[in-house]
Amino acid sequence: MIEVLNLTFSYGNKFSLKNISFKAYPGEVLCILGPNGSGKSTLLKLISGILKKDNGKIYMSGKDVDFVDKEFLNKNISYLPQDLYIPSILTVYEFILLGLSNNLGLRVKDEYLKAVDDIIKKLDIENLAERYIDEISGGQRRIVEIAWCLVKKPRILLLDEPISGLDIRNKIKIMEIIRRITIEEKITTIVVLHDLNMALRFSDRIILLSNGRKVFEGKPEVFINIIGEIEKHYKICLEYNINEFLYIIPINYK
Ligand code: ADP
Ligand code: MG
Repeated sequence: MIEVLNLTFSYGNKFSLKNISFKAYPGEVLCILGPNGSGKSTLLKLISGILKKDNGKIYMSGKDVDFVDKEFLNKNISYLPQDLYIPSILTVYEFILLGLSNNLGLRVKDEYLKAVDDIIKKLDIENLAERYIDEISGGQRRIVEIAWCLVKKPRILLLDEPISGLDIRNKIKIMEIIRRITIEEKITTIVVLHDLNMALRFSDRIILLSNGRKVFEGKPEVFINIIGEIEKHYKICLEYNINEFLYIIPINYK
């Protein structure tokens, strides 16, 4: 579980995140939405410990992160940045194995190889395993990066735009896998998305950020009922459906 309390942060005197509070629970996919520049990536970087907050508290499994060692964070958190640098000399298999780098010694144990094999199978990317990172497409690479995150079986999963650049089939497939693994392994998952429909379909709760503030938190069924607010924050005109299948269609920008 993650608890964020009155979190504030600013990049000098430019952008700031203001007084953000929320909880994320094990077995739940919490989705962070918001226009470009609203602070989504900054928020994930603060939770993952890459950026240091100015004020407020972050608790993980009840522990104040100000007082836990780096090892605890490394062991429990997998964080997928928006743009992950991967050396192109690695094969897909080698890169996924590096997801276990906290544990790897000089000799790689059989159980680690098995963990890599298992996640490759689960994500259906056996055909990519022997290819070099620079020999696969952007979308395939994103799936491989998700395998890299999942291989160590994290307790907390922080994914920054994991499905941007994927085709429509892979978007659904990857979100389904993220959701299934979150439930099966009782992971606390926070996902930054741009696709409102993927958020409606695959998240348990949604947080909407706008200009560094949390302007909404609630279930997808509630989110779709604040269309006017969504239009205001994204500066866009939307059509939507709330019968049976929730969906939102962008019509025009304001
Ligand atoms: P989002 O992920 O929602 O698109 P970000 O969290 O990346 O937004 O950025 C929020 C704001 O902070 C933006 O206005 C961005 O320009 C600014 N910003 C991001 N990183 C830095 C940085 N390292 N230094 C100064 N400003 C930054
Ligand atoms: Mg971002």
